[in-house]
Amino acid sequence: MTTRTHLECSRTGEKYPIEVARNLSASGAPLLVRYDLEAARRSWNREWLASGPSSMWRYAPVLPVAKPASITSLGEGWTPLVKLRRLGAELGAANLWLKDEGVSPTGSFKARGLSCAISMCRELGITKVALGSAGNAASAAAAYAAAAGIEAHIFMPRDVPQSNYLECMAFGAKVTLVDGLISDCGRMVAERKDAEGWFEINTLKEPYRIEGKKTMGYEAAEQFQWRLPDAILYPTGGGVGLIGMWKAFEEMEALGWITGPRPKMIVVQAEGCAPIVKAFEEGKSECEFWHGAMTVSSGLRVPKPIGDFLILDIVRQSGGTCVAVGDRAALEAGARLARLDGVFAAPEGAACVAAAERLYASGFLKADERVLIYNTGAGLKYLEAYSALYPRMEGGAADKLGGLITPR
Ligand SMILES: *Cc1c(COP(=O)(O)O)cnc(C)c1O
Repeated sequence: MTTRTHLECSRTGEKYPIEVARNLSASGAPLLVRYDLEAARRSWNREWLASGPSSMWRYAPVLPVAKPASITSLGEGWTPLVKLRRLGAELGAANLWLKDEGVSPTGSFKARGLSCAISMCRELGITKVALGSAGNAASAAAAYAAAAGIEAHIFMPRDVPQSNYLECMAFGAKVTLVDGLISDCGRMVAERKDAEGWFEINTLKEPYRIEGKKTMGYEAAEQFQWRLPDAILYPTGGGVGLIGMWKAFEEMEALGWITGPRPKMIVVQAEGCAPIVKAFEEGKSECEFWHGAMTVSSGLRVPKPIGDFLILDIVRQSGGTCVAVGDRAALEAGARLARLDGVFAAPEGAACVAAAERLYASGFLKADERVLIYNTGAGLKYLEAYSALYPRMEGGAADKLGGLITPR
């Protein structure tokens, strides 16, 4: 099982015991889980993965859960790696791939992070969790909390996609709709958690979600036969997936599983909320708060990511870049991807398709490079957003169906 050893401050390196629930380090920075990778290297072989579970728990030795009975799994991870044959042909890209996280439980890759976090909460005896979320993290938290028998208190912006609200209600979470952004939701959790006895599981405010998300990095390596792609396009909100993948690369190098250069990490954001893109272009190491954040890509509506300094450092170290995409361009790229290769992506993933188009055109991406796009969610979760492309007459089938059900 796990080879975990301790928690470590991402800023100062200060160590903390992993057997105790903890949010941030003393200096207020995110905490990272560390492992005895030497021991893992001796006792674990990548060839054995083939007989492991078809979920992210195939990487259990580098996940923080100690007791198998704590694992709360709905089949997250081990998602399809799809070659974008027809879109690639149109873009002149011979080696363009998409990791389709849209098939995850609750329709987004947030399932990975929350499966890990809720499993750890269960192991640590936590009975109530709380988070602020712009959308999909809420759905995943609600689902895994339901499966674990943990109470979930969720704060979401009032204009969150309908799918996220309905899922949370159906999963039995205690939902508060907030007139504000994810930052306001997070603040409400922070203000009330001590009095209410909630363990806060906001993005990067606890060390476990990143561990779940890092399995995207392990999986990309395994599915590409241990040769990492040349570039990865990642729709970046809080940046947890990006930081997590980078951590996975570091760990796999220590395990002796991969060698050679790491991928260029490409941050994709929405024009209506692009704090990382702005900081990158201005040569800054941290972001400023992005006022009036607005985009249909709810997962990208994070005005000031807490891990901004880590994200910017990774992009620069990797020789990557940052791209902002408008909502209409993202949805149109989503439609193009669907039409050509049969994947109906979330606008966040679709924004990466639009960014790829632009980067091939500018020559930043080369035709023969192996390029991996992360589609982090299902297009089906964003019916309001895609309706803008395909409006129907009022009183259409959906409205009629609604009329069949008598309100209580
Ligand atoms: C949360 C979310 C993102 C952003 O993820 P981070 O790892 O926090 O940057 C991207 N896409 C979708 C669909 C999301 O739900």
